[in-house]
Amino acid sequence: RAKAQPRACFQFWSNDINTRMHKRLTLEMDLRQALRDDLLVLHYQPQFSLTTQRMVGMEALMRWQRTPEQLVMPIGFIQIAEECGLIVDMGAWAVLHAARQVALWLRAGLTPVPIAVNVSARQCLNRDLVQVVRLALQETGIPPQLLSLEITETTAMSDADQVIGLLQDIRALGVRLAVDDFGTGYSSLAHLKRFPIDEIKIDRSFVSDIATDKDSAAIVRATIALAHSMGLQVVAEGVETEEQSRYLAGQHCDVAQGYLFGRPEPIEVATRWM
Ligand code: C2E
Ligand code: MG
Ligand code: MG
Ligand code: MG
Repeated sequence: RAKAQPRACFQFWSNDINTRMHKRLTLEMDLRQALRDDLLVLHYQPQFSLTTQRMVGMEALMRWQRTPEQLVMPIGFIQIAEECGLIVDMGAWAVLHAARQVALWLRAGLTPVPIAVNVSARQCLNRDLVQVVRLALQETGIPPQLLSLEITETTAMSDADQVIGLLQDIRALGVRLAVDDFGTGYSSLAHLKRFPIDEIKIDRSFVSDIATDKDSAAIVRATIALAHSMGLQVVAEGVETEEQSRYLAGQHCDVAQGYLFGRPEPIEVATRWM
């Protein structure tokens, strides 16, 4: 068929590529504009201590209010922001806004829990991140322990030496560091020992299988034990059921985050939790 109608076939292909490129460029431009117009928002998800049952932290998760009706989730824009480099400025925005929010809570007389902000691979390989964090702390005057950064395991391992240097500088500012999505990369805990971190977050994929898959349960158990032996705090991501929560508590996991305890919610709800 393609041979019989080569032109038509080419036409079809080319239109398809054009449409996709156009969509993508539009998305990129809109995102750039969104950053300028302050249309990005942070939602907050609570983290609970499995020993005291109290809220001990919150993770800031980015959303894009593309139109008054359309709230775009990270899966719809983080990857593209990462590819076009916009993620560096977006990440700086997130750090500053989380810090400003903590300052607002403090000024309102509340006792804020530490807020964790996600940091992308590209940001982590960029020296400016240290300055971004320093300036956010300076501008807001918040205690640095109320801010924490989450970097994914794969990022941490991508250029270990460079990342370690950067993390040391950030930690020297007093900010906490967590390794996100732990277990999805190929690093061992022994390897992690070189990293100046405070906490690891066990990836949701292991947590969701705890009750049904012996291997996942074993991985979670071993990860908790080893992390503790290295003096690291352990957070379990994506805890959705009582059964998972009980299992994790039984294994002395420190903190749980997931729909069982609370979904990511806008600032008004987070302020009520606080
Ligand atoms: P993450 O950092 O691992 O964040 C956890 C994700 O799991 C969030 O998805 C959260 O809503 C979701 N989650 C939490 N509890 C549960 C649960 O019990 N069940 C299920 N099914 N999901 C749960 P979200 O908000 O869509 O974010 C996805 C990813 O996008 C994040 O994964 C993070 O890698 C990235 N991201 C979000 N905000 C930012 C940001 O400000 N900067 C950067 N660089 N990345 C971000
Ligand atoms: Mg995270
Ligand atoms: Mg994660
Ligand atoms: Mg994740």
